[in-house]
Amino acid sequence: MMFHVKQWGTEVMSDTAQTSASRPVARVGGVDVIVIGGGHAGVEAAAAAARIGARTVLVTHHRATIGAMSCNPAIGGIGKGTLVREVDALDGLMARAIDRSGIQFRMLNASRGPAVQGPRAQADRKLYAAAMLDLVTQTAGLDIVEGAVDDLIVDDAGRAAGVVLADGRRLTAAAVVLTTGTFLRGVIHLGDSRIPAGRVGEAPAAALGARLEALGLPMGRLKTGTPPRLDGRTIDWASLTIQHGDSPPRPFSVMTDRITVPQIACHITQTTPAAHDVIRAHLHESAVYSGRIAGRGPRYCPSIEDKVVRFADRDSHQIFLEPEGLDDDTVYPNGISTSLSEAAQALMLRQIPGLQAVRIIRPGYAIEYDYVDPRSLLPTLESRVMPGLYLAGQINGTTGYEEAAAQGLTAGANAALAAGEGGAAHSGGRRLLPDRGRSLTGVMIDDLTTRGADEPYRMFTSRAEYRLLLRADNADLRLTDEGAALGLIGPERRAAHAAKMAALGEGRQMARSLTLTAEQARGHGIPVNRDGRPRSLSQLLVHPEAGRDLLAGIWPAFGALRPDILEQIEIEARYDGYLGRQEADVAAWRREGGLAIPDGFDYRQVGGLSSEMREKFDRHRPATIAAAQAIAGVTPAALTLVIGAIRRGHVAAVAAAE
Ligand code: FAD
Repeated sequence: MMFHVKQWGTEVMSDTAQTSASRPVARVGGVDVIVIGGGHAGVEAAAAAARIGARTVLVTHHRATIGAMSCNPAIGGIGKGTLVREVDALDGLMARAIDRSGIQFRMLNASRGPAVQGPRAQADRKLYAAAMLDLVTQTAGLDIVEGAVDDLIVDDAGRAAGVVLADGRRLTAAAVVLTTGTFLRGVIHLGDSRIPAGRVGEAPAAALGARLEALGLPMGRLKTGTPPRLDGRTIDWASLTIQHGDSPPRPFSVMTDRITVPQIACHITQTTPAAHDVIRAHLHESAVYSGRIAGRGPRYCPSIEDKVVRFADRDSHQIFLEPEGLDDDTVYPNGISTSLSEAAQALMLRQIPGLQAVRIIRPGYAIEYDYVDPRSLLPTLESRVMPGLYLAGQINGTTGYEEAAAQGLTAGANAALAAGEGGAAHSGGRRLLPDRGRSLTGVMIDDLTTRGADEPYRMFTSRAEYRLLLRADNADLRLTDEGAALGLIGPERRAAHAAKMAALGEGRQMARSLTLTAEQARGHGIPVNRDGRPRSLSQLLVHPEAGRDLLAGIWPAFGALRPDILEQIEIEARYDGYLGRQEADVAAWRREGGLAIPDGFDYRQVGGLSSEMREKFDRHRPATIAAAQAIAGVTPAALTLVIGAIRRGHVAAVAAAE
């Protein structure tokens, strides 16, 4: 499907442009959406825009690095795994890519409640990138252009209207999505060395970083780091603790029946006091501790230098030794990212069990890069500074593939929806607006756009007020219908989702209508009170004694339900009271905190608002009442006045009025 809204830009790509084999770019002309960067945010943004029907071009440095994992070869984790399921629920790519490349799947926190469980999978790095490239190239309406974007085309109204490549090629579009990761003026630090780079061995995006600053985007510096890569043939595996994955491995995507990739084991070792002594002795060589890096790093994912300094009382830190692939001897030692000199890294590793004779394939390093203050974004991820420009991923101050993917999908979908309306800025049309009550993606975007990121932002379930509702197991129930209404969901998934919802409806009905008397239940060993009341299957599920096997023995039809339906019915029954309470909390929050403040809302027209409050609102431009509440110093009285004005609808939007 193509938009039939307006004729897009007049400039066209040159015939010599390199594009995906499926669609030559000479046919593309001015397009609907351009996505800059083929990392984890970029691929989801481009695919989401194309699914909605926008003619989309993904411009990235190298086709070969599409979907490259800059750091750890793993997808998911607690909170992060839920983000991946949310991307999947909106027909995104990440879950399907890891299902085709995962070599060890584990449900983290499996013994704890469903709200804090997190699916995670170790990836074969090459298989993951290949699966992602395959999914991207199979997406209809999406072309790939290799090249470096050096500048944005900005129209007379100040809107982003296209890109200029380093070789002079120009491409126009109704909307541009920027997902440049750690590349903007990236600098790698390794001991004393400083190397301009976006990732090891890749040139930084220096010109674009400078241009964005000149165009008025509020920028800052952040840093992150990666550990050395080790040669697995030089590790003494026999001396280490082995860690197996789940059997059978459970896929991430609801569209994957089963995992067919061979599965491997990981191993665990730990740092020692002797290794900590080496680190302390060489701290002055670490780029971070010598003061050569100004950008802030992730507090939640500290380097080994950070851990040794900050947790001085601990004499050991765990290291997970994760193979990078089935036919690859490279091992990723998860837990020891570092910017010490290569020699100091080698000395440290020698003090660690199993690694005494290890060979370093590539030393660890820290990287410092530009990011854009995400408070300058609307909840659609469109820039407030430059309409038509959407930002997603590490450039917004986050860290992690999953955080990037969830933002990418949101930005790409919104760019396409806006492009479909003629690219009108903040037109108030249909948008993908994930909110805190519906998804962890919504929590993340709300946190970023209202509070900003003074260190790389990482997703945790503890950031979500309503985390019992926002679980990994029910992402599709929360989001797929909304995605379908926006045109984001392909026909195959729509059909699968409809079948699942029908099966779930039948399962719920079964759970409500099948009953046992109290005596019958007790006869089966379920300790209900002898009060003469019958108990439904749902009510029986609350008792730990009423396991799946027991109930399936009583009601074979229950046992015959699909495993995902059984799981959902069990969770809904066991957490019924809590879920109901959180749903009521969300409804109350939506009534007040979730109330949207129209973009361009004119606070001058709110009677009784002090100039101090007005100035705060004008400076932060909150998108919701909850966001307004988060601004330091805003009083409840001021909020009441604003809520009243919005409800009465008396205040016109500046954009509409002027
Ligand atoms: P990226 O995956 O970096 O993709 C950016 C893409 O944009 C690349 O394909 C690049 O070629 C392209 N590009 C950039 N500029 C241009 C341009 N001007 N023109 C055309 N194409 C361009 N995450 C964690 O969760 N934990 C960690 O410990 C961790 N450590 C990291 C350590 C290092 C050294 C690095 C580099 C990253 C680390 N990350 C870590 C972060 C993780 O890799 C990123 O969060 C994630 O890749 C961000 O995805 P993204 O799509 O925003 O950017």
